[in-house]
Amino acid sequence: MAIDTKIWTGPGRPAVFLDRDGTINEEVKYLGSPHQLRLIPGVAEAIARLNQVSIPVIVVTNQSGIARGYYTEDDVQDVHNYMDKLLADHGASVSAYYYCPHHPDAIVKKYAVDCECRKPRIGMLSAAAAQENVSLSQAYVVGDKRSDLRAAVNAGARGILVRTGYGTKTEEELLHESEATGAALVTNIVDDLAAAVEQILSQLNQSQPQSVKPPKFASTYRHHRPELGQHYPH
Ligand SMILES: [Mg+2]
Ligand SMILES: [Zn+2]
Repeated sequence: MAIDTKIWTGPGRPAVFLDRDGTINEEVKYLGSPHQLRLIPGVAEAIARLNQVSIPVIVVTNQSGIARGYYTEDDVQDVHNYMDKLLADHGASVSAYYYCPHHPDAIVKKYAVDCECRKPRIGMLSAAAAQENVSLSQAYVVGDKRSDLRAAVNAGARGILVRTGYGTKTEEELLHESEATGAALVTNIVDDLAAAVEQILSQLNQSQPQSVKPPKFASTYRHHRPELGQHYPH
């Protein structure tokens, strides 16, 4: 494992946005309880590496299971609290969790919103970027679905597809499309989050000046829910 020596501080610093299901934790259809939560091997250690160099790690997750009535926002909070515990066991933490509870075809009517936060739209990314004082153009979005990759493109960030969760299925789809259209496959694809972080840190170490400021990593737990009907700025 490479040693990460640079410390990232100040405005315009990079950030790593992580999809949750299939990227951080093993994919379970509509995960609504801490009992179903299993971290993918190597994930906590990878997040800890980002923590060590003060790169904010922000979870952005579509949770249409709330809109579908499978579980509640409180259940999602419980899952994130437990995820914090599992990560803390490895000295890792995330700066913030953002989730979208909406779906246009919601069973629970108050969530039946064609919102700006559901990926591939960028409401969660832009809200988080403002809150965490990071630059989307310096940011990475890591996920296992096309909606994650599209959100990255829509936000002007760099997308990385992991082969965990639905990632191998997504990769196959992209390969088939590439063959069908003759267009080169330009998606950045790695095995898992640990490999993604390895790549991110090596790219950043090559491309950015080193900061001499001491690390100021905000580890306070925040759980963001969008106000209903709120439209995030693009
Ligand atoms: Mg996912
Ligand atoms: Zn939403």
